[in-house]
Amino acid sequence: MRGFNVLWRIIRNQTNNLVLFFSSRPLSTSSLGSMTLDRDDVEIAKEWLRNRAHWGNTELVAQYESEFARWNGSKYAFAFMGGRVALSACIYALGLQPGDEVILPGYTCVVVPNAFHYAGVKTVYCDIELDTYGLDVEQVKKRITQKTRVVLLHHHNGMVCRDYDAIIALAKEHGLNVIEDCAHATGAVYKDIKVGNKGAVAFYSSEQSKIFNTIQGGMAITNDEELAKRLKDYYDKAPFPDDKQIEEQLCNVLLNYFQFKHPQRWILKDWAELRYGAKRLISTVKGEEMSIMPEHYGRKMPPPIAAIGINQLKKIDMYNSRRRDTAKIWDGWCDENGYKKPLVIDGSIPVFLRYPVLMEPCKKENVSWASKELNIVLGVWFSGKLHPVDKKIDNCPNADKAVLSCINFPGLTS
Ligand SMILES: *Cc1c(COP(=O)(O)O)cnc(C)c1O
Repeated sequence: MRGFNVLWRIIRNQTNNLVLFFSSRPLSTSSLGSMTLDRDDVEIAKEWLRNRAHWGNTELVAQYESEFARWNGSKYAFAFMGGRVALSACIYALGLQPGDEVILPGYTCVVVPNAFHYAGVKTVYCDIELDTYGLDVEQVKKRITQKTRVVLLHHHNGMVCRDYDAIIALAKEHGLNVIEDCAHATGAVYKDIKVGNKGAVAFYSSEQSKIFNTIQGGMAITNDEELAKRLKDYYDKAPFPDDKQIEEQLCNVLLNYFQFKHPQRWILKDWAELRYGAKRLISTVKGEEMSIMPEHYGRKMPPPIAAIGINQLKKIDMYNSRRRDTAKIWDGWCDENGYKKPLVIDGSIPVFLRYPVLMEPCKKENVSWASKELNIVLGVWFSGKLHPVDKKIDNCPNADKAVLSCINFPGLTS
């Protein structure tokens, strides 16, 4: 069945290419606008696939963690197989107990509340503002109860959230810890400090659609010695993925590159599909959409993936600078077409994973206008309040509005 589907897709793709060719249109459009894997990452993945002698070399993981910590301006960093797992480590580190409450945005990825549910923590959703799509501090105030222990804030699409200072101050006043979800914002800066360093703990993602890419991956950081001990405790108990899973990850580096980045991807993407397609990894599996913990949850990062991470870190500033250049193009487009630009708060340097704009809902329902007018694939991420799940969450009117109307332009166009 898979063989038949693949063959059918190849015939369709290549017929489409013939049509494009004879109408003199470009053959390959970029369909994953934030792809940061390049030829050098592919060579690293191939070498690790060829030679398994060093798969147990955990010094490489320690090197990745310390390079990330130094680059990020943080004291301690721990690498896991996902931002969501790094969040679980943060929840453990903070000692959250069943019955405790967390206040978090009613506009996030389903894996975020999942990590709390797995630990028995009650999720209290809070509305966002529509300037940076972060938590609205006035709304946070209304949701604090006797049981609130933690506020989780995020820097959506790489913008430093509007109420950053205010939320940190509010949490301090009430004796609450702050977790910073920096999954979209690795490298964003506020008042000369990278985001993630103001809360008690923070996590970052190197999942394939994020700022940097190890296919799956995440980092938990803290600057507090006691919390670092607790993170390490979780880390030490976490298993590595088995060899088959590591091999799949490495094959996905190749798949990703040949499908989304290679200059001849109009033909090579079909070859890669035949060669590696059966190993394709899906970041959020069906069960997670229903809050069921997947089988291989809770793994820490093994050496071959850390090797890709080390290489990605070398390029992250270059890619983030390109993202800011791309954002200027969308700034100009918004000005010309009368749309409100996302807010860049004073003293911040955003990274623009994607560039979000509120538009007429019909422009989100059918995005073909963007490929015609701008030759891009428009993002409709956060098409549900718990992306990709459209859960009904009360008293979050701004989140409702964003779900209906917020589209996003790619942060990288080539
Ligand atoms: C992707 C994402 C996560 C989780 O990161 P993974 O590495 O995919 O586990 C958490 N929060 C937000 C807002 C995300 O977009």
